[in-house]
Amino acid sequence: MNLEEGPFNRNNRSGWKHLHSIRFHFSGCPERYCIMKFISRAFVFLSAVLASCVVYAAEQPEFRAACVKIDITPDTPQWLQGYAPRQSEGIHDRLYHRIAAMDDGATTFYMVASDLCVISPAFYDDFTKRLEKETGISPKNVWWSTSHTHSGPHVGNQDLGALFAASLGDRFSITLDANYWTFVVDKIIAGIKEVQSKLEPARLGIGVGTAKANINRRELRNGKIVLGENPGGPVDRQLGLIRLERQDGSLIGLIANYAIHGTCLHGGNKQISGDVPGWVATYVEERAGAPMLFVNGAEGNVAPLPTVGNDINDPRIKSFEQTLGQPILQLNKSISETTDKVKLAIGRTIVETPRREGLPWLEELAAYNNTIDGTHHVRIPVFSLKINDDTVVWAAPLELFSEIALNVRAASPFKTTLYFGLTNGSLMYLPTKAAFAEGGYEPSVSPFTPRAEEDFFGGVSQYLKSLKQ
Ligand SMILES: [Zn+2]
Repeated sequence: MNLEEGPFNRNNRSGWKHLHSIRFHFSGCPERYCIMKFISRAFVFLSAVLASCVVYAAEQPEFRAACVKIDITPDTPQWLQGYAPRQSEGIHDRLYHRIAAMDDGATTFYMVASDLCVISPAFYDDFTKRLEKETGISPKNVWWSTSHTHSGPHVGNQDLGALFAASLGDRFSITLDANYWTFVVDKIIAGIKEVQSKLEPARLGIGVGTAKANINRRELRNGKIVLGENPGGPVDRQLGLIRLERQDGSLIGLIANYAIHGTCLHGGNKQISGDVPGWVATYVEERAGAPMLFVNGAEGNVAPLPTVGNDINDPRIKSFEQTLGQPILQLNKSISETTDKVKLAIGRTIVETPRREGLPWLEELAAYNNTIDGTHHVRIPVFSLKINDDTVVWAAPLELFSEIALNVRAASPFKTTLYFGLTNGSLMYLPTKAAFAEGGYEPSVSPFTPRAEEDFFGGVSQYLKSLKQ
């Protein structure tokens, strides 16, 4: 509504007639008439302005969004995480936090995606406590996902990993750089404050496609399952995309979701790099002109295609621009329907499943344990973000096998179901029952049992159904 349409606009004769009657009444006293006329007109004008403001407020779309990108590249050599310990000797490409905020007028949701390998759930919990203390933002409103690059610095104690020294070797007795951890958290908190201050009226669109940039990595070689390539094995190739744009259609930011281990580069590489998620995000940003969060999916048994090994100058690393960057850009272009009518609902549940027998636990992860009649269970938090009635994003602090996310999606009552992996920490691998029977790397570093697939799939599916009601 604008001012020209009110009952007192210039063409509305009844309004002027009313003023004429005042004029007539006070015609014997011109000076007083002028004051009264001024007051009356001011009153009329203010009423019209107020009326239009009320209508404008009711009609104004309440959805707002913002995205920021913050450099977290260390300026000192760092122990790189994901393979055997090695210190960085240089920087190939820079590392970032990318943060998106979405606000529907009642709920503000913050998504942080970082070019880091993995954090402990205890580290995430400590971060959210500090954030709440400094900003008042509730922990439930903030998700923090790591890209799983294996060429980024260690951040935080890797509590659970240390329990699997038999499989992982001594990756954890290195000198840790707590100053860098503090820097990483400082930067998120500053980023959240910045993104909060940049919220602006926005529209949201969601796209789903596919990309062939990954492959099942559990290869049967000489009768044993090894980390390699298994072209016939199940793999989740869904590409999910959330588009945030301004009212005029210009881009605020993207959140891309795809399952891929950040292991294109191997342990011989000593250059800091975001690996595939970092390269692809930068490639898309250079062309789309806004930040892109890369949020990993169910990458537990999923390798990049191809894996190049130790040589960061291998030209094949560019192939991800075509196999993943381009599909994201095309999917972004294909999102023709966006809306400013957005309702967000944040939720959380816990799925419990027995802990692997004989595996000790750690005091700092006490919140993730439940002992029932002498049997230890892992408490796995499952997070949800419902966007209107047709989309659900669910998340867990896991390296989940693709089959389980695919089955959850098939059973989901929502039109679009996205899974955000390695979110709010990691409780390590959650493999399928079949994988436990086959053996191989992931079951050997899992805190779970062959029952986990059934318990987790059942718990998550039931939870997503309850969200639809
Ligand atoms: Zn991994």
